[in-house]
Amino acid sequence: MTETHNSDLLPEKIRVGVSACLLGNEVRFDGGHKRSRFITDELAAWFEFVSFCPEVAIGLGIPRQPVRLVGEAGDPQAVGVRDPELNVTRPLRAYGREVAGRIGDLRGFIFKKDSPSCGMERVKLYNDKGMPERVATGLFAKELMVAHPLLPVEEEGRLNDADLRDNFVTRVYVYARWMELQGGQQDKASLLRFHARHKYLVLAHSTVMYRKLGQLLADLNRQPLEEIRASYIYSLMQALSRPATRKRHTNVLQHLLGYLRNSLDSAHRADLADSIDAYRRGEYPLVVPLRLLQHHFSIHPHPYISEQVYLNPHPQALKLRNTL
Ligand code: SF4
Repeated sequence: MTETHNSDLLPEKIRVGVSACLLGNEVRFDGGHKRSRFITDELAAWFEFVSFCPEVAIGLGIPRQPVRLVGEAGDPQAVGVRDPELNVTRPLRAYGREVAGRIGDLRGFIFKKDSPSCGMERVKLYNDKGMPERVATGLFAKELMVAHPLLPVEEEGRLNDADLRDNFVTRVYVYARWMELQGGQQDKASLLRFHARHKYLVLAHSTVMYRKLGQLLADLNRQPLEEIRASYIYSLMQALSRPATRKRHTNVLQHLLGYLRNSLDSAHRADLADSIDAYRRGEYPLVVPLRLLQHHFSIHPHPYISEQVYLNPHPQALKLRNTL
């Protein structure tokens, strides 16, 4: 078991799906790969990757004729680039549905961008004159995303962006915690505690959703608990899919500082406030005021704050907040 937070006991490695070529597997149409160093050299220490290559799985072989998406946005077809008679739409969709039915233990998925099978968004969609006119989602990716709307998904290209990278890994850990909760006690108290621990994390993403989630849990007798839980996790994952902003992080940091007001002397308080302000101006990365806060809370523990996922949403060794 690994600890990202003092009251988390998640599996040692979280199972995450990935397009096989991103692991360095030579499965592309030309026999090559698209290894992502971030995935294989950094995330692999924390995630157990389960790889899928839909085009190989449906028997297209390596090497193979490349396919592309053509037709209408509502019904894109995967056809051969050289031989338009080759249409693998049905097998790709069928394989996507089959995989979707057996990935209940995955807590995230990283797709290869631009692929007519794996691309999560903005995959070129060609018209009947062979011109890229619109964009669509890869056929395999689409089946997985429709069947598992809560599953955190991302493309490897977008993981080069520090905000999106932090956001994806945060969502994977939140979803993993939620699924752990699903496997254990499902009473009102455990739902309220889960929410209490994630409050400041949500506030860093969306003030509106922070309020909405609070209202949703304000009266747990209003409707069956199972329905409230379903609405809650849907809204929570929706809130987190919007990356946190510097302004909202600053707001959360100032809230946290408030819990130390009576414990710190004026010099330490001013030092912490300066550090938050320097972060707000973009002079410090997020990790600087966060480490200071963590240091002071380790000396002056607060039971509510010590439970906050916001302070430790994912393993510190990934250093995801060093560049935010
Ligand atoms: S993008 Fe998807 S279909 Fe294409 S090689 Fe990679 S895993 Fe296979």
